Amino acid sequence: MKEFNPQKAFVDPMSLEYATGRRVLEYLKASQIPITYSKRVIIEGESSIEKYNNSKKTIFLTLNKEKKLRPCSPSADFQFSLTSSCPGMCEYCYLQTTQGERPYIKIFANIEDIFEVIQKHIDENESETTTFECSSITDPVPFEKMTGSLKACIEFFGNSEKGRLRFVTKYHQVDDLIEAHHKGHTTFRFSINTKKIINDFEHNTSSMEHRIQAAGKVSKAGYPLGFIIAPIMRYPNWKEDYEEMLSELKSHVSENKKEITFELIQHRYTQTAKKLIYSRFPKTKLDMNDEERQLKWGPYGKYKHVYKKEDSEEIKAHMMGLIEKYFENGKVEYFT
Ligand code: SF4
Repeated sequence: MKEFNPQKAFVDPMSLEYATGRRVLEYLKASQIPITYSKRVIIEGESSIEKYNNSKKTIFLTLNKEKKLRPCSPSADFQFSLTSSCPGMCEYCYLQTTQGERPYIKIFANIEDIFEVIQKHIDENESETTTFECSSITDPVPFEKMTGSLKACIEFFGNSEKGRLRFVTKYHQVDDLIEAHHKGHTTFRFSINTKKIINDFEHNTSSMEHRIQAAGKVSKAGYPLGFIIAPIMRYPNWKEDYEEMLSELKSHVSENKKEITFELIQHRYTQTAKKLIYSRFPKTKLDMNDEERQLKWGPYGKYKHVYKKEDSEEIKAHMMGLIEKYFENGKVEYFT
């Protein structure tokens, strides 16, 4: 995917009291993006598909007023956000069911306030380190050129004695982040998948090659590195495709002798997500045949359809075997 540029922007005038707000405004003006100064976002569109498509091209420059951060178990102690939503249109994105009919992109201008809230949570926590996740409701990377916020955030954590950051991305625009003074306090993770899966289902995201090249740059920059392989799917040649992906990845991070983490998540869906996916992507090729799945009770009070036990065990064995084969410094954190 090329550099993300919105088609429309709404700007809350309060956001211009912050340096990041003014930087984003300059960017929008220079890129000749139509701007409306308002606290309210209007998304046009007759159908819900049109509204969804238009939302993904619209940004709202606004403020994050969250004072009490939500827990983010098990991956981190807390979660916060510099942005919400993203330009990607991944058919199985779990945000599909949580961000409503108009998942327009919010960019938060008041990063100083956000850092203050984070610092308060670090100070109040008695543990040796407090970990924070900043990609729970967004992909934080594609906006970096516009905002510079993620680099500032990485450096905030770089200077923090007890705070640690982690995030995950499906984008390759990492050049500005390579130079950040991270001091090893940020774990940089990429969400990766086979070429076929990315091409078929992860619209408006970076290709496998680009993500892997970006991971090579991040690895050379000395960041703690991790990969989420998700959703893992079975289809003709899935075994060969995942092997191709991991061997390609290995060739880009082979100099990295530190631990590299892997999180493995098999494909799953709820009935609510299935309905929504069919309404937003009527021609989807996603395999959601209930007959070939088994039910698993999820933490959010809904049944998920996961692969049947023998299929799921085969996925686990194959993926763990590949990681062992290609990454002697690989650590599988979990398979689910
Ligand atoms: S890039 Fe991530 S956050 Fe964005 S649509 Fe895809 S899965 Fe969802």
